[in-house]
Amino acid sequence: MTKSENIDPAEIKKFEDLASRWWDELGEFKPLHEMNPLRLNFINTGSPLDKKLVADIGCGGGILSESMAKCGATVTGLDMGKAPLSVARLHAMESELEIDYQQITTEAFADENAEKYDVVTCMEMLEHVPDPSSVINACCQLAKPGGSVYFSTINRNPKSYLFAIVGAEYVMKMLPRGTHDYARFIKPSELDSWARAAGLELKDLKGITYNAFTGLFSQSQDVEVNYMVQYTRPL
Ligand code: SAH
Repeated sequence: MTKSENIDPAEIKKFEDLASRWWDELGEFKPLHEMNPLRLNFINTGSPLDKKLVADIGCGGGILSESMAKCGATVTGLDMGKAPLSVARLHAMESELEIDYQQITTEAFADENAEKYDVVTCMEMLEHVPDPSSVINACCQLAKPGGSVYFSTINRNPKSYLFAIVGAEYVMKMLPRGTHDYARFIKPSELDSWARAAGLELKDLKGITYNAFTGLFSQSQDVEVNYMVQYTRPL
């Protein structure tokens, strides 16, 4: 596999097929809409976004990208899905936001934009990629020294299997069946060893917990299912 081929076409197709539904807050992307305020708050607390240059990796239809732009950031969104990017471009126009959306791999983009960004975000994307460590390296490369890199993904253990696959895809039907592949879930320790090898330092780690009774997500210390991390690139 060459550096520019770190994509799984079957994974990209899943998102291409669902792209028209991206901004339907009650549709297939409902969990992303509901988790977004928590992710945004985590990022904006760790790195106040106003006037920051941000690269949003695997931006999809732009839920996180738009919310960061609304906080005053200048955002470039990257994705390898064509349809999600078309949806993202149209929606940004409707929202009257200027966001630069590009269809390019993270690795190729990083080679041309090294050390350019104050903040790099890569949310709910690593678990869809053949070689997550290569994306993590590219994210580090994109960050300015002293900048921050944020990831969110899903842990791999019996509880995450039960919640993220059985619960979300089969029982609650919050996500289409086959959205997630258990084998691709990533333990915080695995993410951390890749991030450290890339030269990043761990700053913060938080869980995102779903309460099946209230139907609400909240930030927590429980990282057994969904979690988000902040890393910094040392000066
Ligand atoms: N980060 C967004 C969307 C998450 S969905 C959010 O959290 O709101 C996952 C996205 O990753 C999809 O849009 C999919 O097209 C993209 N993706 C999957 N594999 C990719 C790859 N190898 N390179 C770039 N984008 C990829």
